[in-house]
Amino acid sequence: WSGEPAVVAGSCWNVELLADPKANNKKLQDKVAIITGGASGIGEATVHLFVDHSAGAIVIADIQDEKGEELAASIGNRCACTYVHCDVTKEQDVESLVQSTIQLHGRLDIMFCNAGILSQSMQTILEFDLSSYEKLFAVNVGGVAASIKHAGQAMVKANSRGSIICTASRAAGLASDRNTDYVMSKSSVVALMRCASTQLAPHGIRVNCVSPGPVETPALCETLGMGAADTESMFSRMFRLKNDGVLKVKHVADAVVFLASEESQFITGHNLLVDGLFQG
Ligand code: NAD
Repeated sequence: WSGEPAVVAGSCWNVELLADPKANNKKLQDKVAIITGGASGIGEATVHLFVDHSAGAIVIADIQDEKGEELAASIGNRCACTYVHCDVTKEQDVESLVQSTIQLHGRLDIMFCNAGILSQSMQTILEFDLSSYEKLFAVNVGGVAASIKHAGQAMVKANSRGSIICTASRAAGLASDRNTDYVMSKSSVVALMRCASTQLAPHGIRVNCVSPGPVETPALCETLGMGAADTESMFSRMFRLKNDGVLKVKHVADAVVFLASEESQFITGHNLLVDGLFQG
């Protein structure tokens, strides 16, 4: 680049691009996406936002069959949205999920590896329970690895410039005084994403993480044993960023849309924090 902006009809070329009012609403036009853990919380909000951004097809993959089927049906004819039962801890399920998506829609552009569980324990290392750690790792780490593997294989085979996004957490990398198993699992997701982004970069496939702070979802309310309003109010003063209210699932979904879209086409190996500088 010469360093000089090109001038078109008296204005800078990039200003003209930004001025297109339609471009912003269709960031995912015709893209084919899988969203694991798509029946609830962050995944559910992402399904709705992908529809708003004109995704061509969305496959919701979850183990909550009734919720997943209802959500897919509620989308109506705005997008080809289907539900598939998929337990991400079973590699066979993940493989068939990807294969059935390709059979139905011809390709896969976006894999959102979001299925995950929160820790029910507040363990320090002195209380560490190996059986609960294994279950947590099977979903949060094994499930993400299987999802990246099978989506990556399909994208490499099709020579497509796909985008893979994983849900880690602000907790990843924390020197926490509790919640040891969860912090370990989400730190592993970030490590996995970094390896996968390096290994898939030669194929033009991007891999990134989104790392939310605490956001009111069924999982968080259940873990805390509190209702939605109490959960939000407990966290409301803990975000350093003073904005309108607290962190919401829509804020996380906005970051996922960015990482899935062409707007981030030269971003890979990145862990995008969506946490309003949460302190706690
Ligand atoms: P949620 O419970 O509302 O949604 C998670 C979904 O994953 C559920 O629909 C659940 O059925 C599904 N799921 C669980 N185990 C599965 C499996 N084995 N196979 C397939 N699907 C499975 O929870 P959420 O808060 O929206 O969590 C989504 C992701 O965000 C998780 O990875 C979680 O760790 C992460 N996260 C959440 C928060 C938070 O505060 N809520 C913060 C940081 C990260």
